[in-house]
Amino acid sequence: MTRPRTVALIVAAGQGNRMGGSPKQFMALGGKAVVAHSYHAFAAHPAIEDVVVVIGAGQEAELAAAIGEVRHVTGGATRRASVLRGLEALAADPPTRVLIHDAARPFVPTAVIDRLLAELDRYEGAIPALPVADTLVRFDDRMGDTVDRADLFRVQTPQAFIFDAVLAAHRHWPSDTDPTDDAQMVRQTGHEVAIVEGDRMLDKLTFPADFAAAEARIAGGCTRSAMGYDVHRLVAGEELWLGGVLVPHDKGLSGHSDADVALHAITDALLGTIGAGDIGTHFPPSDPKWRGAESGQFLTHAAGLVAARGGVIDFIDLTLICEAPKIGPHREVMRGRIAELLSIDPDQVSIKATTSERLGFTGRGEGIAAQAIATVRVP
Ligand code: MG
Repeated sequence: MTRPRTVALIVAAGQGNRMGGSPKQFMALGGKAVVAHSYHAFAAHPAIEDVVVVIGAGQEAELAAAIGEVRHVTGGATRRASVLRGLEALAADPPTRVLIHDAARPFVPTAVIDRLLAELDRYEGAIPALPVADTLVRFDDRMGDTVDRADLFRVQTPQAFIFDAVLAAHRHWPSDTDPTDDAQMVRQTGHEVAIVEGDRMLDKLTFPADFAAAEARIAGGCTRSAMGYDVHRLVAGEELWLGGVLVPHDKGLSGHSDADVALHAITDALLGTIGAGDIGTHFPPSDPKWRGAESGQFLTHAAGLVAARGGVIDFIDLTLICEAPKIGPHREVMRGRIAELLSIDPDQVSIKATTSERLGFTGRGEGIAAQAIATVRVP
């Protein structure tokens, strides 16, 4: 059985915000753009193959500044038109499943994605929702009747669909009416849409107070530091990948993946900050899929898991322990590469190197060891 292809579509095409200034999806939140938070969460999810961002006309530079060079589509005048353009772009190479998400909801817990995708085995669509806790009343110019809230839910995104079902629903929706969401359109074509438990982390940023609350959630959480340690053997006839950079040397590191000891140590440090096990938990060496794998993907996966928890990476400190090669000449390139992989600034990455005075396995040049400490703010 082939694995279903799943793509996430982030709708980030808004042209303004109720607070004035630049569109809210590009405003900074916890040191990175709002849209970058959900992008990294989707990109890190093991079931999601690709992430496509729908932006407004002329927002290419803002997107590049927010996330980098990523796959994007230009949206339309309304949310519905933007989603349709995104779906039509995907239709050229259609995925099995699509998650449609509003960029204004920056924190996307991995567990919600898992719950949604699980329902697509039985339903054409699935949406996250939370029960309404407050009393609701109808209000005209004075207070009216109370609304029974027992069967009322707050609907959130991402919403997950079988791709063909949501594409057909969008194509056939009458252009003169505006749906409240994609799930309503899919239901209209006769399909059932499941409801899964949402999460308050998914709440939308609409008013200045929402931004302040999200900032406070990040800043007012706590700072965690965790360490990672790794060793790989140096052997002749291998390439030497260190810190995501190919370093010229007469030996290279051997291992199941590309054996980039520096990236492995940082990956473990990041996983440590959210108590998510270690690199072997996520990328078991027994799985042939990771043979010769580029270790950058382990790092971006760990960073995405941190993002999915609402975490923000403050600092990475790495120490390489070897007699040779000399690290100094490669330090700045490595800093830049690690920063790029983590979507942080090179100033937030420190690389140090030391020898072990010719003692032990590093001293004899039999291997390279790496230690890393990651500092992350988690809500
Ligand atoms: Mg390793």
